Amino acid sequence: MSALPPAGSTVLSFEDARHVVEKQAGLILAGHVQDIETESVPLLAASDRVLAEVVIADRDLPPFPRSTRDGYAVRSADLFQIPATLEVIGEIKAGEHLDRIPADIGAGQTVSIMTGAPVPAGADAVVMVEYTSPRGTHVEITRNVAPGENIVPRGAEARSGALLLDRGLRLNEAAIGLAASVGKSRLQVYRRPRVAILTTGDEIVDVEATPGPTQIRNSNSYSLAAQILRAGGEPIVLPVAPDELQGLLNLIEEGLKLDLLLLTGGVSMGRYDLVEQALSELHAEFFFAGAKIQPGRPIVFGKCGASVRTREKANGYFFGLPGNPVSTMVTFELFVRPLLEAITGRSPSKLQFLHARLKKEILIKTGLTRFLPAILSGEFEKSEVELVAWQGSGDIAATARANCYIVIPPDRERIAAGDWVAVMMR
Ligand code: AMP
Ligand code: MG
Repeated sequence: MSALPPAGSTVLSFEDARHVVEKQAGLILAGHVQDIETESVPLLAASDRVLAEVVIADRDLPPFPRSTRDGYAVRSADLFQIPATLEVIGEIKAGEHLDRIPADIGAGQTVSIMTGAPVPAGADAVVMVEYTSPRGTHVEITRNVAPGENIVPRGAEARSGALLLDRGLRLNEAAIGLAASVGKSRLQVYRRPRVAILTTGDEIVDVEATPGPTQIRNSNSYSLAAQILRAGGEPIVLPVAPDELQGLLNLIEEGLKLDLLLLTGGVSMGRYDLVEQALSELHAEFFFAGAKIQPGRPIVFGKCGASVRTREKANGYFFGLPGNPVSTMVTFELFVRPLLEAITGRSPSKLQFLHARLKKEILIKTGLTRFLPAILSGEFEKSEVELVAWQGSGDIAATARANCYIVIPPDRERIAAGDWVAVMMR
């Protein structure tokens, strides 16, 4: 039997643990993106998927010099002296047929023009209708304009053939709108990676079952599945593993066939915490076996070598997440998410903290980076945040009342009411 990872030496600070994950995410992106299978989806189903092709402008954007206002297309030089009266030689609405657009606008002439309509040759600016008064066949204009005002020149947003969206981009509404604007009714996207969820523990029963007096319903498989879906993966829930080595090994081997294996529970120091032992038997490489955080300190991250992988494209990565439900949720956000994002084909998103004023003083022990369930309230410059009362990392009810986590660096013992604190949203 191979040795357990040396106790203590592989417990990293929060930042170091995060960097280890980011490094592995980088390796995945550098090495395997080309191997990820892709599929074609209709644009309406492409939201939040990861783009696996490049999207190119099929014509200039805008395809003609576009008026951004309702008003009059003019030669700006004609308005050197205002008020000025110009002859109206036509009207151009959005989508106007080319034949109906005057070939040129001469000195002293103008056309009435609508937002989104093509500005005719000769005109170099549009005066907003608010500064004009019709005078029969003419119009009086009371404000001058700079050349180019209220016109977006042809091709100013993108030239025909320009790269608009690159591979690896997660498709948000702007990217989808842009794809639509260049005629892409379907997009090639990466297949969602399949993530195995393997929860461990003799006390765990499924939601359907009636728990005995000392049994606990499995909540981690469900909260993890929700987080996996949000991060772009497809969750596959395996049966609950017993606290017994052979049963656990069999299920770990099942899980390693998928794109990523998440275990929950069994990573603490208890006599029946067998996850690290089981993974060691499979000759796993452990990148770390703990992070100085609360909740979530016992988190394990590693990789199983090619000999145990039964599927060619599986990469063998696993996380052993602590079983306490809040620890499971927090460690997913901090460590699993960036790796999973890389497996979906995109660069991992950076952790983003916003800052808010603390409502009530916090007194805490030093040594761990803390992510404590909290409620952020108010808006704009009036935002304030306070901890929810909780019973520790098993307290899902408190965490469900929270809408964020207050992030406390390991050297802080006291944070006064009114101080700015970092907040991680969820
Ligand atoms: P462990 O990490 O196995 O020592 O578990 C820590 C705590 O989390 C124990 O109180 C477990 O009962 C609880 N726990 C473990 N797995 C789950 C799960 N899947 N759903 C809910 N609670 C769990
Ligand atoms: Mg357990």
